[in-house]
Amino acid sequence: MGPIPISLLPQNTAMGEDGRVTIGGCDLVELAHEHGTPLFVYSEAQLRARCREAVAAFGDGVAYATKAFSTVEMVRLAYEEGMSLDVATGGELYVAQAAEIPGERIVVHGNNKSVGELRAALEVGVGRIVVDSFDEMDRIEKLVFAGMPPPAVLVRVTPGVEAHTHEYLRTGVADSKFGFSLASGDAERAIAQAGASEAMELVGIHAHIGSQVFSVDSFRKAIKVLAPLVVSSEVEEFSIGGGLGVAYVTGEEAPTITEWADTVKSVCAKQGIEARVVAEPGRAIVAQAAVTLYTVGTIKEIP
Ligand SMILES: *Cc1c(COP(=O)(O)O)cnc(C)c1O
Repeated sequence: MGPIPISLLPQNTAMGEDGRVTIGGCDLVELAHEHGTPLFVYSEAQLRARCREAVAAFGDGVAYATKAFSTVEMVRLAYEEGMSLDVATGGELYVAQAAEIPGERIVVHGNNKSVGELRAALEVGVGRIVVDSFDEMDRIEKLVFAGMPPPAVLVRVTPGVEAHTHEYLRTGVADSKFGFSLASGDAERAIAQAGASEAMELVGIHAHIGSQVFSVDSFRKAIKVLAPLVVSSEVEEFSIGGGLGVAYVTGEEAPTITEWADTVKSVCAKQGIEARVVAEPGRAIVAQAAVTLYTVGTIKEIP
């Protein structure tokens, strides 16, 4: 195995004549001495550049999926660059709160939101709850009292499209544990129920087909399948989720966030979708901005 190609490392990685590697001008050996190993090193310049790219490509409402890297500083950085924050557990909501993110910029996900998590989301006044099941809608109905502003919700739909990715990372197939299936009619029923409920303000439809998706074609397929529902339900927002792949090893190549957004938006337009199109990239924001440093301990020569 040769050295890691520079194209897989953070953009501001450089190697001096002495063979020492720096990221953003920081010497990696010095960082290892200062902080110990293993050590995650992120390029702030690259994190910010990717957030800006996402905001420029999708506009207001594009969210950073915090599960990709959830620390107070990271969440704050994404917010500073204009992103909303997607949280999938009470723990991630806690991080967003610790970063003092305004509630309206938080999007709450999860296929098993507990009463406690939903109550916390309502107390924070989150911008969006992405409802995932009929059970969850019942919980929301019980938690929202008269006089309380109803939370804005998106209904998560499983389009029944297989993304070209590892089967454990596919979330858009009809038997997925996430969301409401389009094929069974549950999606339509959920949209009708959310639309009629006084405890919810239906604003949109959401889909997330999986992670490490390298082909924009998978997104094209999902949008085509979902378009009739998005158009007929006349919602104002359509979120295509996250999942854009990131090259980790030699030979892998991924579309940029801009290329992904251009395809998604043009397919939506062609399909007659007038709703605002948003997305939730996670990995594509952070993965290539980081390296992990280790100290070589034992060496064995194996013939
Ligand atoms: C994981 C996830 C994302 C982000 O996925 P990436 O592959 O990190 O881009 C976005 N939305 C939802 C609902 C997710 O579960």
